[in-house]
Amino acid sequence: MGKIIQLDDALSNKIAAGEVVERPASVVKELMENSIDAGSTIIEVEMEEAGLAKIRIIDNGDGIEEEDVLTALQRHATSKIKDENDLFRIRSLGFRGEALPSIASVSRIEMRTSTGDIGTCVIVEGGKVNTIEKAPGRKGTDIIVTDLFFNTPARLKYMKTIHTELGNITDVVNRLALAHPKVSIRLSHNGRNLLHTNGNGDVRQVLAAIYGMNVVKKMVHIEGNSLDFRINGYAVLPEVTRASRNYISTMINGRFIKNYALAKAIQEGYHTLLPIGRYPIVLLNIDMDPMLVDVNVHPSKMEVRLSKEQELNELVTDTIKAEFKSQELIPTSFTQP
Ligand code: ADP
Ligand code: MG
Repeated sequence: MGKIIQLDDALSNKIAAGEVVERPASVVKELMENSIDAGSTIIEVEMEEAGLAKIRIIDNGDGIEEEDVLTALQRHATSKIKDENDLFRIRSLGFRGEALPSIASVSRIEMRTSTGDIGTCVIVEGGKVNTIEKAPGRKGTDIIVTDLFFNTPARLKYMKTIHTELGNITDVVNRLALAHPKVSIRLSHNGRNLLHTNGNGDVRQVLAAIYGMNVVKKMVHIEGNSLDFRINGYAVLPEVTRASRNYISTMINGRFIKNYALAKAIQEGYHTLLPIGRYPIVLLNIDMDPMLVDVNVHPSKMEVRLSKEQELNELVTDTIKAEFKSQELIPTSFTQP
């Protein structure tokens, strides 16, 4: 008899979870992205012990049909893409169909969801469905994740302090709030409110909720176009800087991404105005044809591959530079003495 066997679902989900669910912040990111993809306008995130004890996400999105609930918990089950062509024009945040089964395989999940009329409540423990029953209908989804990593002791041990994990979660939530100012987002930890955005679409108010009004007053609007890209956002005046690149937020088609070259292009827009080792606070939204961006690079989808990267980076640098020239912070021409 051969030695090779096909692993069962529970085990392969647990393996996938190693990449998708690195830490509590990954759970928050995946579940909030699902809420956003479901068209929610209000998302509430409650946590205990930096999400290690409990993460609860309540949204008012489309909900999941009763007949789809168990499928949604299966690996590679998604409502967001249908065929290969869709993979190259992704508008949603999710599409891999991995988050729910991965999270469910390393925690206990209690999910209530409804498309409006009668709802469903399902309890899954370590990837195994414990109970599924009808529940009162309230359009939206309410997911409670407890005992994260209870069955992956090595991963649990690897968790940093509550302080660090909480920092990672607030980063994730802040970024999603910045990328989605039309969604009202509330985040609380051990009953204490950490963030509340009003969802009125004004990104300046989200910036104020995160960085404070004093910083926002020092931010200027930036906007630029090229053949393939439309960019807009806010860049802080060079008099306000930070000691880390973490305050540079870049979004492509509503998805937060990390891209070193892009962050560098932003800094270059500041010309020589930034002191060495100091970084600006910037929010940059990039709109582009989804065909020009490959988001299927890493399970966390934070890294992307861009076509025409050079064109984009030049547009970014030039747009910021032009703004600071118009503010007369960068000289527009050099006159001979
Ligand atoms: P993906 O987001 O990549 O499709 P997930 O495993 O995260 O995969 O979710 C599987 C499916 O479950 C989604 O495609 C969606 O149809 C449904 N779903 C998950 N979360 C929600 C939610 N909060 N509201 C409505 N539907 C949801
Ligand atoms: Mg998802």
